Amino acid sequence: MKVLVVNSGSSSIKYRLFRLSAEGGDSLVLCAGLVEHIGEREGPADHRGALERVIGELEGRGYHPANLDAIGHRVVHGGRDFGQATRVEAATLERIRALSPLAPLHNPANLLGIEVMGELAPDTPQFAVFDTAFHQTMPPEAYRYALPEHFTREHGIRRYGFHGISHQYIATETTRRLGDGGRRRLVSLHLGNGASAAAILDGKSIDTTMGMTPLGGLVMGSRAGDIDAGVLLYLQRELGMDAARLDRLLNRESGLLALAGSNDMRRVLALADGGDEGAALAVKLFCYRIRKYIGAYFAILGGLDALVFTGGIGEHSAEIRALCCADLDHLGIALDPNRNTAPDADGRIDAEASPAKVLVIPANEELEIARQVSALLRGH
Ligand code: ADP
Repeated sequence: MKVLVVNSGSSSIKYRLFRLSAEGGDSLVLCAGLVEHIGEREGPADHRGALERVIGELEGRGYHPANLDAIGHRVVHGGRDFGQATRVEAATLERIRALSPLAPLHNPANLLGIEVMGELAPDTPQFAVFDTAFHQTMPPEAYRYALPEHFTREHGIRRYGFHGISHQYIATETTRRLGDGGRRRLVSLHLGNGASAAAILDGKSIDTTMGMTPLGGLVMGSRAGDIDAGVLLYLQRELGMDAARLDRLLNRESGLLALAGSNDMRRVLALADGGDEGAALAVKLFCYRIRKYIGAYFAILGGLDALVFTGGIGEHSAEIRALCCADLDHLGIALDPNRNTAPDADGRIDAEASPAKVLVIPANEELEIARQVSALLRGH
């Protein structure tokens, strides 16, 4: 079966076309691409122009939209409405639109992708796959804020979590690689420009570090992660910052960028190596926050069978992985330094005697989307 995966952002559209075996186990990427600079001088004028280009590229490779089995779209926020991937119907579009205030940067662009694709390929079934859905299994003590209940009921103010498609892929892939032994109590660390950790028990997310928005939790490229809400009140009151200014500060001027002058971990590590104190602190703080959450999730999972690194930093930086796992023998986590720099065929980097398995698994959100869409098409 052929499934096209579309990730429609505000200024770019990524796509990947998969061929999946009948039972969804094997997959092959038939073609992939990226259309950038939407709305800028050098790019297509709008999302319609961008998706027409995507379809043109597909047709150029001999794949016509009418011959696809399905199109799967990544949607950032599914709120409380979507606990799993869903076939797109008129009502689905309305519900996604209604969730836009929760993800004003992302949901409108995701929605445009679905709507325009629906016009360009009207006979191909479309599916929405949500970045929040995997975390809908969190219990109330994990997702509620200790605020008056009507804020949650009427305004949807609660924790949702993100990177769910990636964490779900990691959960499945860890089980595939380790068998049942490694899957009961899993901590998944997605460390890219955005970063989050998830505590996964028997394949279900029971907690994660991001909250109502992707601003919570770990230190990120340009986001601070966890911060005392009182700081925001102070900045408002004493420095006169309004919502737009705070938004910019928290989303684009904080994190590694604020501490080290760069949001690129490669550069931050190089600066730290060269003796830059800000960069050294950035690396320490980044790893310290991760270690705190590993401990927290060890506690709520009742132990740990596997710890998995993914995302650009998690996949490529042996140094960060070593710092995150240093002196965690008391939690049953021990890396093998040689394997850490050259993971084995299963991505294993733990020492032979380590009770917890530690793995590096490349992120593959697109494949996870394709698999979920194919499972729905097959009626699962
Ligand atoms: P996104 O979250 O935007 O998808 P990625 O998952 O690609 O981003 O992660 C980007 C981050 O990964 C950047 O901070 C980049 O510096 C970092 N990164 C990529 N390769 C390495 C490496 N070899 N060592 C350290 N960090 C790396």
